[in-house]
Amino acid sequence: MYDYLIVGAGLYGAVFAHEVKKAGKTCLVIERRDHIGGNAYTREQAGIQVHQYGAHIFHTNNKMVWRYVNRFAEFNRYTNSPIANYRGEIYNLPFNMNTFNRMWGVTTPEQAQRKLAQQKQESGIQTPQNLEEQAICLVGREIYEKLIKGYTAKQWGRPCTELPSFIINRLPLRFTYDNNYFAAVYQGIPIGGYTKMIEKLLDGIEVRLNTDFLSQREQLSGLARHIIYTGPIDAYFAYCYGPLEYRSLRFDIRELDTENYQGNAVVNYTDIETPYTRIIEHKHFEFGTQPRTVISIEYPLAWTPGQEPYYPVNDEKNDALYARYQALAEKTPGVFFGGRLGSYRYYDMDQVVEAALQAAERLL
Ligand SMILES: Cc1cc2nc3c(=O)[nH]c(=O)nc-3n(C[C@H](O)[C@H](O)[C@H](O)COP(=O)(O)OP(=O)(O)OC[C@H]3O[C@@H](n4cnc5c(N)ncnc54)[C@H](O)[C@@H]3O)c2cc1C
Repeated sequence: MYDYLIVGAGLYGAVFAHEVKKAGKTCLVIERRDHIGGNAYTREQAGIQVHQYGAHIFHTNNKMVWRYVNRFAEFNRYTNSPIANYRGEIYNLPFNMNTFNRMWGVTTPEQAQRKLAQQKQESGIQTPQNLEEQAICLVGREIYEKLIKGYTAKQWGRPCTELPSFIINRLPLRFTYDNNYFAAVYQGIPIGGYTKMIEKLLDGIEVRLNTDFLSQREQLSGLARHIIYTGPIDAYFAYCYGPLEYRSLRFDIRELDTENYQGNAVVNYTDIETPYTRIIEHKHFEFGTQPRTVISIEYPLAWTPGQEPYYPVNDEKNDALYARYQALAEKTPGVFFGGRLGSYRYYDMDQVVEAALQAAERLL
């Protein structure tokens, strides 16, 4: 009999398991996939750490979380500075003075602000009715047309005129020549990859891979006094109110016989004609000098049950559905729901670490 059965060996499960062991209690971690790490999983190919489920850059303003993860890995100095490719024109992201200079030839913040104000005024939109109008109100027509329209439509599988405006309440505009996307106090990639870091978190803890909780629920539940469940909350309750919606992704991972394919870790393709949204070149996360390279081409995908759920669709309908599942969860003694799937929230890794530490403090 274990004190805790932890369902899911992602970052949430691993941090919680580590804290269980530290508190002198016992736990068993089970994982449906054939590897630990959840979506932060990395594996080595051609000497390069490949982010199997998309680019993962650790960034946080939380000193406690930063100190915590640094106990399990040494982080490099990687700073996320993605670029956008619009029909061969290259723009810096997030929208900053470099972007405005390339777009309009302006060189000072005052000129950029004037140009933006002029574009917003020309649009004549008072109350935005959809995402297109909202974006034009926030950044003007030109930035919208080149850098937002195609990319967002591909991400959501619908034109911006058919998307609700609340998706982009805010678009960060920066009036400095600063391409640091996250602008977090602490940022980097664990040297040797995330899997190594999560292995360290799970050091000395029993982990069973290829083990799906839901298909052996009775037997596995009997093994522990408490359950920490980090899988999809609706699946736990057999979708009794219907499935929560997600957006999914498909990654086409290729090894190429070239040393440097695109000169940057992340390139967004913002036109509508290119069917994918991003290409990641993994070696640039670690300043790699290997003779070959590995890229992943990222295609947004409609989600249907059974597919990998990546991004929750936190609109009114799904949030209301989640609230019903959450009410069921509160009436389920001995089971605690956590992590991004258990909470039906997009969490960055630092938020997941913080949430797992808070839960551990409360429950242990
Ligand atoms: C494309 C993409 C890019 C991202 N980029 C960043 C980034 O740059 N920076 C950042 O901070 N965050 C990023 N994130 C977020 C990051 O992936 C999450 O914060 C983190 O992985 C969440 O950890 P978790 O443990 O909650 O969930 P997960 O990593 O999803 O782990 C949950 C685990 O539970 C397992 N599981 C589910 N159901 C069962 C079951 N029934 N039985 C057994 N096991 C089960 C799953 O297989 C999975 O391994 C990104 C996410 C995506 C999708």
